[in-house]
Amino acid sequence: MAAKSGNRCNFWLPKKKRSCSNTRIESSMFCGNHSQRLDGEWIPCPIDPSHSVLQENLEGHVKRCPLLKQTVALSGQLFYQKGINAGNEEEEEEGKMGSCCPDSVVTSEMKRNLLYSMSVSKFHQLIKKIETVHGGICNDIEDSYLSPEACNVWFNKEIDRKLPFQEKHVLQQGSILGNLEKIGALKRCAKNVECCEIDPEEKDDDKNVPAVVEFGAGRGYLTQMLADCYGVKKVYLVERKSYKLKADRSLRQKENLVLERMRIDIEDLNLNAVESLSGVPYVAIGKHLCGPATDLSLRCCLSRQDGESPVLRGLAIATCCHHLCQWKSYISKTLAVTASFFGLSE
Ligand SMILES: [Zn+2]
Ligand SMILES: [Zn+2]
Ligand SMILES: [Zn+2]
Repeated sequence: MAAKSGNRCNFWLPKKKRSCSNTRIESSMFCGNHSQRLDGEWIPCPIDPSHSVLQENLEGHVKRCPLLKQTVALSGQLFYQKGINAGNEEEEEEGKMGSCCPDSVVTSEMKRNLLYSMSVSKFHQLIKKIETVHGGICNDIEDSYLSPEACNVWFNKEIDRKLPFQEKHVLQQGSILGNLEKIGALKRCAKNVECCEIDPEEKDDDKNVPAVVEFGAGRGYLTQMLADCYGVKKVYLVERKSYKLKADRSLRQKENLVLERMRIDIEDLNLNAVESLSGVPYVAIGKHLCGPATDLSLRCCLSRQDGESPVLRGLAIATCCHHLCQWKSYISKTLAVTASFFGLSE
């Protein structure tokens, strides 16, 4: 056997038609992801429960857990403020924002159990209530699918780059940007984008081009489209996970584009403390902000506004996974309470 495969995980990946390429654990034929997880042996990491640790490695792990390193790096940043956008359990009052309160996450299992414990008639009552409230609020909201002309270079695949092109995503991104243009938050470049990028005399125009904050930016493709089609000059990518810098690379190649990637949980981001955004007009965007991430982003953008704060021109978010929403982070508790969702009568 070649030396190279000797320390590799032996788990066969049928789709990739090869073995896993991770390094195997010394005591096993497999890597950490593919080792048999015997009960009791693996425990959730106390620092970041999204991954598990072998009990015997726990002591060492808590010293070098990736999240720990990241938190240490973050805590030195002015814009890091733990839980500032997390929301409160209670009704939100002015000035109460950002106060620390114990986590009380309602798990999917708890939600399921609650539903299963309902009588059929109560369940129907609940559905009816949801439909009534939804009808009362959402009737005036019209669908608005837009394909703005500014994005034609993308729609027509005229962008000469090795970015993956997936039509449904490109159409959705286009519509997000088109709607921002429609409400006046974005302006189409007077000239074509390339000349807009290199013309230093367009100073006045510069002021009209808002900065962009993309929440849950992932690889930053939405911002990429925005940079290609609307000539933005300053972008901030907010993303908790680390990504390979695929889209970044092509964004970073754009002349006159200032790009800042902020690896932070939206929950902990104080936009008012981002120095380079102080007093700067910006648009906020997000594609697939899962569950509460939409609430956190809204709170992040709509918190304290004064002369120093960045100036929100407009905001467009494609929401996702509503079933993951949490009461604690929910942005409009007053509405939900006045809509009397709660205290269903018998
Ligand atoms: Zn493996
Ligand atoms: Zn860990
Ligand atoms: Zn989702």
